[in-house]
Parts: sequence; structure tokens; C-alpha cells
Amino acid sequence: MTSSVIRMTTSAAIPSGPEGAITSDGTVTDRLVEANQGYAAEFTDPGMDARPVLQVAVVACMDARLDLHAALGLELGDCHTIRNAGGVVTDDVIRSLTISQRALGTRSIVLIHHTGCGMESLTEDFRHDLEMEVGQRPAWAVEAFRDVDQDVRQSMQRVRTSPFLLHTDDVRGFVFDVRTGLLREVDPA
Ligand SMILES: [Zn+2]
Repeated sequence: MTSSVIRMTTSAAIPSGPEGAITSDGTVTDRLVEANQGYAAEFTDPGMDARPVLQVAVVACMDARLDLHAALGLELGDCHTIRNAGGVVTDDVIRSLTISQRALGTRSIVLIHHTGCGMESLTEDFRHDLEMEVGQRPAWAVEAFRDVDQDVRQSMQRVRTSPFLLHTDDVRGFVFDVRTGLLREVDPA
């Protein structure tokens, strides 16, 4: 799927049907639960501490094409991953980063946006349309963006200026290319 065909509306893009996606063996959640049984059968307790081994927190978009652990060579226990629509630094991301640094010892922060993000096709109209549909204005901003590099810069700035974080000297931002799998670093200036 290219970014030009991504269309997001408050209701038109949502598949109908109360059961969600149905596979031949039940709902998608049933499938996940079944997969977990296989995973647990092979699982051995690695005896790890909750503190990330690499002392790093990664903030990234929730996009399904971005496999963070594989793309960054990360192993179980290495890092905190904080994901949301766009990988934007919201108050709740600051909450998680603050806990990550102050309670669980991380020091570095990596921000990852990506090419073809669905957030580029949204505007704050999304919020207005939502209010018209449900009769209630969401408290959150949509955080849509047009220029992915600029949004990475804004996210870096929000992290660097947060009064709650202990470590803001190693904050770097990137755009992941969903076609090549490569990260491109964004100049913070
Ligand atoms: Zn995205």
C-alpha cells in the first residue's frame, strides 16, 4: 500500500461486523491466544531484570510494517518500546519516558517515524468529524503532520525540553523507509 491510497476517516474505513476479523478457526484474537500456547511451550525464563540491558527507550509509530526489534537488531530485554500513531511525543509518551529513565535506568532515546505514515493523510478535521459523529470532542490532539522530518524534529524538541527527564543529551531521531528497511537520521537543527 502506498501513502496515496491510505484513506482514514472516522468511520468509513472501519470494517463492519461486530466480531472483528474472522479466520476459519475463530477470531483473530483466538488465533493469537493459540499462538501464545506454542510460544509458552518453548519458552524458558531468561531470568531478566526489568531494567533494559541497553539503557535505551525507542519511541516509534505503531505502523505494522515496522518490526523494531528486527530492524534495530534488538534482543529480548534490550530496550523499552513506546509506540503510538505517528510515534509522536505526547504527554503520555513523556510519562513513559520519565518512568523509563527514573525508575528503570534508561539513558538514551531513539525516535522513529517512517515513510508512508497514515498520519500524513490526516488533518485536525479528523477531530472535528469525530466530534460531529459522536457528540464529544476528544481531549487529545490528532498530531497529524505533513512533513515527517519536521515532525521528528518537533518530537526531539519535546523530549529535550521536558523538565521531567533525567537524560536528554542522547536523543536522536530517524525516518524508517518501509520500502528499503533503512533508517535515515534527521538533523535536529
Ligand atoms: Zn506511521
